[in-house]
Amino acid sequence: MNESPHNTHAQQGIAFLNDGPKKHFIDGNFQPSMSGESIEAFNPATGKRLALLARGRKEDVDAAVSAARKAFEGPWSRFTPHQRATLLMKVVDVLERNYEELATLETLDMGAPLKRTLAMKNVLMQTVTYFSAQALNWSGSTIPNSLPGNFTTLTIKAPLGVVGGIIPWNAPLISMWWIIGGALATGCTAVIKPAEDASLTTLRTAQLLVEAGVPAGVINVVTGLGGEAGEALSAHPDVDRIVFTGSTVTGRKIIQASAVNMKRVQLELGGKSPDIVFADANLDKAVPGAAMGVYNNSGQICTAGTRVFVQRSIHEEFVARLADYSKKIKVGDPFDPDTQLGPLVSEAQLKRVMSYVELGGKEGATLAAGGTRLGGDLANGYYVAPTVFDGVHNDMRIAREEIFGPVLSLITFDTEEEALKLANDTAYGLGGGFWTSNIRTLTKMMNGIKAGKIWVNCWSLNDPAAGFAGYKQSGYGVKGGRDHVEGFLYEKTIYINGD
Ligand code: NAD
Repeated sequence: MNESPHNTHAQQGIAFLNDGPKKHFIDGNFQPSMSGESIEAFNPATGKRLALLARGRKEDVDAAVSAARKAFEGPWSRFTPHQRATLLMKVVDVLERNYEELATLETLDMGAPLKRTLAMKNVLMQTVTYFSAQALNWSGSTIPNSLPGNFTTLTIKAPLGVVGGIIPWNAPLISMWWIIGGALATGCTAVIKPAEDASLTTLRTAQLLVEAGVPAGVINVVTGLGGEAGEALSAHPDVDRIVFTGSTVTGRKIIQASAVNMKRVQLELGGKSPDIVFADANLDKAVPGAAMGVYNNSGQICTAGTRVFVQRSIHEEFVARLADYSKKIKVGDPFDPDTQLGPLVSEAQLKRVMSYVELGGKEGATLAAGGTRLGGDLANGYYVAPTVFDGVHNDMRIAREEIFGPVLSLITFDTEEEALKLANDTAYGLGGGFWTSNIRTLTKMMNGIKAGKIWVNCWSLNDPAAGFAGYKQSGYGVKGGRDHVEGFLYEKTIYINGD
């Protein structure tokens, strides 16, 4: 795979990749770091260097925030809601025309199979279209008045200002849109700091937005390390809001840094989601559903149902079918159309995942499938076989800590009450789900599971029109739906004396 012709061909076909080191995108132009320093980005399928990225520091973030502030106060403030909605529809066109390039770039940068990144086109188009509609769909209200005299009381909504977006590497092509879409729909401007492991699609998208007619300075991108560019953005006194997707550890740091000017903060953090399989479930659906609920994107999905609880009476059959299914999954070259799972994003992530696999064995869990890094043709990339640990207890570290790799923990239960208690015994509250054909179980579980998103007899479905917020240490603030857009606005209450 190291020398896969598909991979080399894809890389050569992208002009954006081949025109030298990548720079920040500030005020409508690519600009180098003020320090002249760069960091390396690797292709996780081959372990080879893919690009050099500008290493952003405080001074680069200052320049980007200042461009965003200038655009917010200047030409962008004169765009009407209708003009912003129309602009977003133009963006849909431009993204559609350039989608193959964006999908290829995402695959080269973070390793998801091309088939998967191409299939994300619909999700992206629906998301941007949704934000176009939302540009026309927010408003204040008038308040029924009880004040003495001729008063009218009303509220108006206004865009917050400059929004900082900090995103992870697992799906940047979509993640960035929670910031860009909200900003374009409301009249805010943004500075985005993509993850150091996958920055390319964010940079290219920012350039395409200007091609579509988004004024310079409205969407800016500063690349670099979390502890440098990310920290500078979250602590910047002229940034009004931070929208963050990433780990709970970093989320805590962002809250602290944001205190400097009382920024509003929205956090989508980690998870250790429960997926409960009851004895009355349709196993033809539950086996692949539970498996892909973890393995999708090589396990690098925040809502992955990594703790699979299975009712004791079907445990033996379930584990046999799950192990069989897991062993048949094709892991390999992301450009091979038959590939289901690509590599993990980086060597660091590979080491982290393999250390958890080792830990699972030490904690007394038994491997029913996988547990290995893949070698042969795949030896230079960061590939891990889909892994099933059986005999897991909910208090083991592999059941409590987020692994962010294709590693599933099977935990046996007897009763509904026990399943619910175990499912909720976690520091997180991001996703959850269950498989059953019994309506009594359904209502009990959907009401009982403490998580921001619950899937019933399915997994991993998402709709931009449906809001979702983490619970407990999985974060706060709604992502998606109308409340997402509200997060980019503030409300003013106006009292008018008509006399
Ligand atoms: P991470 O928190 O290390 O990094 C995420 C982003 O934060 C990156 O851009 C990084 O550069 C930046 N960052 C790191 N340190 C920073 C700091 N001190 N100040 C400001 N920014 C900083 O997370 P990761 O390991 O790269 O990504 C995986 C994590 O993201 C997992 O925990 C996963 O669950 C979570 N995630 C959550 C969602 C969600 O919607 N809830 C979606 C995807 C991923």
